[in-house]
Amino acid sequence: MSETQQPETRAFDTEVHQLLKLMINALYSNREIFLRELISNASDASDKLRFEALTHEALKGLDQNLEIEVSIDADNGEIRVSDRGIGMNRDEVIENLGTIARSGTRKFLESLSGDHKKDARLIGQFGVGFYSSFIVAAEVTVETRRADEPADQGVRWHSEGSGEYNIETIEREAQGTTIRLVLRDEHKDLLNRFQIERIIRHYSNHIAFPIRLLELGNKDDKDEQSDTDKVINDTQALWTRPKNELSEDDYKSFYTGLTGDPEAPVSWAHHHVEGSQSYSLLLYLPGQAPYDLLINRDEREGMKLYIQRVFIMDAADHLVPRYLRFMRGVVDSADLPLNISREMLQDSPLLKKIRATVVKRSLDLIEKLANEGGEAWETFWKAFGTILKEGVIEDFEQRERIASLLRFASTESGHEVSTGLDDYIERMKDDQDAIWYLTADSLKVARSSPHLEAFRKRDIEVLLLTDRIDEWLVSHLNQYKDKELKSVARGKLDLDEDKHEPDEQAKALAGRIKKALGERVGNVVPGHRLTESPGCVVADEHGMTLQMQKLLRQAGQEVPESKPDLEINPGHELLKAMREESDEDRFTDLAHLLLDQALLAEGGELADPAAYVKRVNQLLVAALSGKRDSEQASAAEDSNAASA
Ligand code: ADP
Ligand code: MG
Repeated sequence: MSETQQPETRAFDTEVHQLLKLMINALYSNREIFLRELISNASDASDKLRFEALTHEALKGLDQNLEIEVSIDADNGEIRVSDRGIGMNRDEVIENLGTIARSGTRKFLESLSGDHKKDARLIGQFGVGFYSSFIVAAEVTVETRRADEPADQGVRWHSEGSGEYNIETIEREAQGTTIRLVLRDEHKDLLNRFQIERIIRHYSNHIAFPIRLLELGNKDDKDEQSDTDKVINDTQALWTRPKNELSEDDYKSFYTGLTGDPEAPVSWAHHHVEGSQSYSLLLYLPGQAPYDLLINRDEREGMKLYIQRVFIMDAADHLVPRYLRFMRGVVDSADLPLNISREMLQDSPLLKKIRATVVKRSLDLIEKLANEGGEAWETFWKAFGTILKEGVIEDFEQRERIASLLRFASTESGHEVSTGLDDYIERMKDDQDAIWYLTADSLKVARSSPHLEAFRKRDIEVLLLTDRIDEWLVSHLNQYKDKELKSVARGKLDLDEDKHEPDEQAKALAGRIKKALGERVGNVVPGHRLTESPGCVVADEHGMTLQMQKLLRQAGQEVPESKPDLEINPGHELLKAMREESDEDRFTDLAHLLLDQALLAEGGELADPAAYVKRVNQLLVAALSGKRDSEQASAAEDSNAASA
C-alpha cells in the first residue's frame, strides 16, 4: 500500500499520455468500442472475484449474483458502468490506470503509423482497454474498492485525459468498481437507451454476467422506469449450449464478443465431448489476421480456458500449437481442478487430449476451406499460409496432412500461388519420379533461374518456393506420398534421355576452367541442365543451397565458406569461344565472369563485386573498340570502293 492516503495529483506515464492524445483525436468511427472495453473489464473483474473466492475464505459469498450495470444519466450528461467484481486498491489503481502495464498495449503503440484511418482500425481490432473511455469522455472518474478491503479503503481516480490524474482514498460501501464518464458535447447523442442497448448487444451479448441497463431521470413516469431497468444480454455461455439451439448469427456474434474482430469468422466447429473426461470446445477460423500475429509467435492468446464456465486463463500456448496460432476459441471442462496453475496445465493429460482435438478439428476446418477453394481460401492462404507451413517443421505426426494443404507458385501456374502437392502429382509425367522445386528470394528471380532451362525443355513442372520459411520447409519435407522432393539446384540431374557421357573436349574445357578458377569452385562439370545460359552453380547432393546459406547468414549464423560446383553448357557460344581462346589471362577473366554471372542469376552475392565490374568493363571496352576498328575498316573499304 502507498504511504500516503492524501489526495494527490500524479502524472501519467509518457506512453499513456501518448495513447490518450491519440484517443482524444478523431477516433469517432470507433467510438463505440469504449463500452465494449469497460464491460469486458467489468466482466474480467467479476471473473477474478469468482476465481479468488474459490480459495480465499474472506471472499466467500461475495461472488453471488454478480451483475454489470450500465446507466445513462442524461441530466448530468453521464454514462456509468458498475460491477461488483474484485475491485482495486490504491496501488493497483496507480499501476493499472496510470501506466501501461500490458505488453499488448505497448505493442499496439509501437505499431501505430500516424495514419488516422489505419490506426483507428487497429484500435478496433485490438482494443486498447480502459483508456478508450477518453474517445467519448471529457472526464473519467473511477471509484473502486477491492472486495477484500474495508469500506474506508475505497479509491477515487479522476482525470480529464491530459497529462495527469488525481487519486484519493474514499469511503465506499460497495465492492467493485464504478466508472463514470462525462461525455463530450459531440457525443451526447450516446445518452440514449436504444443506442446503448444496440452497442451492448453488438459487442457484449455473450458476456457471462447479466448486463443491466438503467436510464436515470424520467422519475415522473413510473411505467417507463420499469421498462428501462432490464437485463439485455444473453448470459448463457454459448459454448455450453446444444448445437441445434444455436443459429449462425449466434456463433458470429459470439465470435465478435470473444475476439473484438469486426470481421466475421470464416467457419467454426463446436463439440461437446462426453465420457470419463468431458469438455466443450468451440473453435473459430478467423477471416483476417490480427495485426500482431506474426510478431507474437511466443506470447500467444486466443484460446480461453473455462472450468465450469468460470474463466481461468487464456491458455493458447497449451491448447494450440504455434502453427495454428491464428485459431480462436473457448475450451470448457468440468474435469479440471479449479485451482489449476500454468505448471499443472503442462502435465494435464486431459489438456493434451483437448489439444490433439484442437489440432484435428482446426485442420478439418482448413481442409474444408481448401476444398471449397475460391476467394475465402485465397484470403486464408495469404493471411495464414506462411504460419501453417511451420507445422510441417514442428508437427511430425500431421506433416503429410499439413503438406497437402500447402500452396505454391509453379512454372505452370502464372502468378497464382495455387499449386498444391496433389495438383503437382496429378500433372506429373509418367516417367517422372520426383517433385521438383526451386527456392529463391522472389518469383522474378525464380522464373529467370538458369536451373529451369532443362525442365522447360522437357516440359517438367517446377514448384517455385519464395517464402523465407520454404528452405526449412523442404529440408523437413523430403517426401510427399512416396514422391521425393528434389531441388533443381542440387546434385546430379538424372533427367532421362540425353544421359550420354560428355565428350572429351567438354571435359577438357571444364578442367581448364577449374584450373583458372582455383579455390573459388569445387568441381566444374559439363552438364545438361542448361540450354540457354552458359553456366549455373549447383549445390552438392547433401549440401546447402545458396539460398539456404544466404538465409542462415541473414539470421546471424555462421555458415562455413562452401565452394559451389559450376555446371557449364559446352554448347553455348561463350564456351565455344572460350575453347578457342589461347590467351590464358583472357581465358581466366572469362572463367571468372562465367562463375559470377551464374551466382548473380541465382540472386547470390559476389564476394568481390568490384573485380566483376572491372572485368565486365574491360570486355565492353575491348568489344566496342573492336567494333569501332572493324567499322572503320569497313568504312575505309567502302570509300575505297567508291573512289575506285
Ligand atoms: P486489460 O483489461 O486488457 O488488462 P485495460 O486497459 O482494459 O486492460 O485495463 C487495465 C487494468 O485495469 C486491468 O487489467 C485491470 O487490472 C484494471 N481494471 C480495469 N477495469 C477494472 C474493473 N472494472 N475492475 C477491476 N480492475 C479493473
Ligand atoms: Mg480490458
